[in-house]
Amino acid sequence: MEIHRVAAFSDNYIFVLHDIAQGQAAVVDPGDAEPVLQTLKELGATLTAIFNTHHHSDHVGGNRQLLERFPQAQVYGGAEDRGRIPGQTHFLQEGDWVQICDRQAEVIFVPGHTYAHIAYYLAPATPNDWGELFCGDTLFAGGCGRLFEGTPQQMVESLGKLRQLPDTTRVWCAHEYTLSNLKFAVTVDGTNATLQQRLKQVQAARAQDQPTVPTELGLEKQTNPFLRWDQASLQQAMNSTSTVQTFARLRGKKDLF
Ligand SMILES: [Zn+2]
Repeated sequence: MEIHRVAAFSDNYIFVLHDIAQGQAAVVDPGDAEPVLQTLKELGATLTAIFNTHHHSDHVGGNRQLLERFPQAQVYGGAEDRGRIPGQTHFLQEGDWVQICDRQAEVIFVPGHTYAHIAYYLAPATPNDWGELFCGDTLFAGGCGRLFEGTPQQMVESLGKLRQLPDTTRVWCAHEYTLSNLKFAVTVDGTNATLQQRLKQVQAARAQDQPTVPTELGLEKQTNPFLRWDQASLQQAMNSTSTVQTFARLRGKKDLF
């Protein structure tokens, strides 16, 4: 299976997963149909499945148009998003397994950004290979999603589940927010040398208009403040006494950044 990163709108990424042997493809979070149809045409692939992480229009806005072209395609999303995802045929819960091309994906329930948000985790095909995580607007490179429908407690639990995945997991997040996220991160975790080095690399990449997604979970664990709410330095910086309070204050500061 090959993963193609497709840019959409001003800063969204849509992912087209191509099963070359079968000539079939799946798509994750098609906010816009046009760039997906273009990619499928270039690949010569038939779309068989749409995987949505949550109901926001920049993630599901292309579902209907894709279904007009590929009426047989199945549409997967969270059980609690029933009625909010156009064309949804499969209603998924924590621990469900779904076939994505030639791989099996585990469904992880990650409420917080929305109350129904799910992520898809594909374990490595072979022991030395990468795992793949499609996490929508829950975890970003250097940051996390805003809390539109969930509480800090929920988001800490959701991010905690993602943090338990292996370091060798590629994180395919749905927006190019990395530079802004890392500029914020250094204001709260300024003594973190790995973070400072990462900011320089991302500044250089963005100056040349290069994408910073996917990112690696191991690096996120070292540099993303929204996975580091239990670090003493961050608790101190937020003048907080609990992990949830640290997270809530970090998220509040980022909302105003
Ligand atoms: Zn969203």
